[in-house]
Amino acid sequence: MFDFHLHTKVSFDGVGTSQEMAEAALKVGLKEICFTDHEDYNSDPTKESNLINMEEYSRAYDHLDVPGLIIRKGFEFGLTTWNQKELTHFLAQRPFDFVIGSIHFVDGYDPYDKKYWEGKTVQQAFHRYLEQTLECVKVHDDYDVLGHLTYVCKSVHNPTHEPVRYRDFREITDEILRILVSKGKGMEINSSGVDRVGDFLPSADFLRRFHELGGEIVTIGSDAHAADRVGQYHKEALEIVKDIFGHVCTFENRTPIFHKL
Ligand SMILES: [Zn+2]
Ligand SMILES: [Zn+2]
Repeated sequence: MFDFHLHTKVSFDGVGTSQEMAEAALKVGLKEICFTDHEDYNSDPTKESNLINMEEYSRAYDHLDVPGLIIRKGFEFGLTTWNQKELTHFLAQRPFDFVIGSIHFVDGYDPYDKKYWEGKTVQQAFHRYLEQTLECVKVHDDYDVLGHLTYVCKSVHNPTHEPVRYRDFREITDEILRILVSKGKGMEINSSGVDRVGDFLPSADFLRRFHELGGEIVTIGSDAHAADRVGQYHKEALEIVKDIFGHVCTFENRTPIFHKL
């Protein structure tokens, strides 16, 4: 019923228009969506960052009206250990409903880059991603939910094509989750991993632990970059979230709204 992670052509890697994505959402039975385009600073200053063109953003969403569908406006910010000021500055430009904070770069590399995996075992590659996540959640406060924890496993260069398991990384994961809880942040269950590694990002075991530690804010997102993936696996995600939390969240004006399941 909700998809709170969607990219359109406003994102450097999106292919659908806002109208196409919204119509697709209605068609698959969604009631409410949120557009979350990339605002991503490259860790390597000599390389291009993938930033939102605000005029294009406003043109795509401000007059979009699809009867029967509630449309929220947000963005997905690539958290690094050094870009807190950039996030604060971006937020000051206009009102937003929702901010996903995601880790897309580790030691200057996107895990989609083969170089990230060189000289690391799979376990080391997973662990380093979680270490970077921990460093980022320690220093950032201006986002609402942590995006796709365990994104690293989805990379085409993960030789096992297996998801990250909570039991293999308990200690560092608990540190991350405790910080999220103490700062009042939520998590998302991101369905873009299902076709890649056969599980959600993160898998249910991480979300269960988050809830055990006191976490209550949870959103569902497909991370669709094209209309045919809008709302993908949202029913399966909803079942997991229902089982663990008994509710799911949407956001308006940066405030979570709890929907009992
Ligand atoms: Zn992302
Ligand atoms: Zn995304």
